[in-house]
Amino acid sequence: MPNSTHGVDYLIDLNARHAQAFKDLAAERRRYRGEHPTEIAALKCMDGRLHLPVITQTTLGIIQPFRNLGGKFDLGWPFFQVIIDQWVQYAIHRGRHCLVFVTYHYARGDEHRGCRGFNYDTGAARDAAIVLKNQFVSIYGKGAVVPIVCGIETDLDALILHGEDDNAVVDLAKIKQSSQLEIEELLYSLYPTMPKRIIWDMMPLVRGNIRHIAEVRSSNRPVAEAEHKEWVLGVGRGFDWLHAINTAFIVGPFDPYLSVAIETAAKLLKGNIDEGRVDPNGIVLLTSAAYRDETGPEHLLAQKKALFLSKFAQDIIKAKVPDLLPHLQILTGSTNLDSRKFEVIERLNATQALKPS
Ligand SMILES: [Zn+2]
Repeated sequence: MPNSTHGVDYLIDLNARHAQAFKDLAAERRRYRGEHPTEIAALKCMDGRLHLPVITQTTLGIIQPFRNLGGKFDLGWPFFQVIIDQWVQYAIHRGRHCLVFVTYHYARGDEHRGCRGFNYDTGAARDAAIVLKNQFVSIYGKGAVVPIVCGIETDLDALILHGEDDNAVVDLAKIKQSSQLEIEELLYSLYPTMPKRIIWDMMPLVRGNIRHIAEVRSSNRPVAEAEHKEWVLGVGRGFDWLHAINTAFIVGPFDPYLSVAIETAAKLLKGNIDEGRVDPNGIVLLTSAAYRDETGPEHLLAQKKALFLSKFAQDIIKAKVPDLLPHLQILTGSTNLDSRKFEVIERLNATQALKPS
C-alpha cells in the first residue's frame, strides 16, 4: 500500500485541496441555499463509510454532520445539547426550518459489515435512533424542527427512510428512476405533517441518493472497498474536509463518555493494522478544534482545546491500547469553519510521539 495516500503529509494536502474546493463552491452554496434554505444536520456513526454529501450528491457544506461512536447521542448530554440548540436557534433566527437525519447503519450483504458500535445489532441501532428522534420531538415539538430516522445501507450507499410513525420504511435502492412528482408523493406519504418547505429541500438529497445508488451499481464497486480501512483517528470537530471514504474514525467531543469512544476507535484502528487492511506506517491521531472568528479569543481557545484533546487521546491510548502507540503519528490543529482550512499546531512522527511528555 503506497504511503502517498496515508500519513500526515497526505492529510495536510487533502485539507488544502478541500479548502480550495470549498472556496470554489461558495457561489454554488449560496445559490443552493437560496433555493433550499432548510438547515440540515446528520447525526451519525463515526464509521468512515458514511459520507452523506457523497451518498446524496450534495454540495459540500450543506449537511452539518455530528459524529459519534455508533451514532449514539442523547439530548441530555451537556455539551451536545448546547451545540444542537445553538444550531437550531441560528436557523430559527434566519427564518429557516431544521431537518435532522437521525441515522443508523448496516450492510445488506453481511451483518458483520454493519455497525461495530452496536455489535452489528441493526435492530438495536435502529431502536436507539427512534429514541433519539423522539427526544427531538418532545423538546422541539412539531413544525420548525423535524427529525427523521434514516438508515444508511453501506453496500449500495442507500438511504432507508423511516416514516413519521416509525413503521413505514422505504429503501431508496428499490426506487427506480422516479419523477420529481413521484418522489414528492413518496415523501408526503412518509411524512404527512412535515412542512412543505422541508419536503422540497429534502427532495434533492433523495434524488441525489437514487442517482448515486445507480452509479454504485453500474461501477460494480467491490465489497472489499466497503470494509473497514480507516487509518486515522480523528478527535474533535471541523472534520468536514476529511471527506475521503474509509479514511477516519471520527470521535466528536459531545459524548460525556469521550474516553470510551476514543478507546473503541483506537481498538478498531489497531484491528485494521492487525488484519493487514492498512499500512502500519501511516497511522495518524488527528485532533481538530473548530472556530470561526480569526481575530478574537475563539481562535486561541480552539488551539488550546486541540492540544488538550490530543494529549487526552494519547493518554487513553497509552493506558488502553498501548500497542497502537508505536504506529501513531500525531497531527494537531484548528479548523476554520468558514474556510475549512486546517492550521497545524503540532505534528510529531511515531518515534517523537513515544517520548514521555
Ligand atoms: Zn457504526
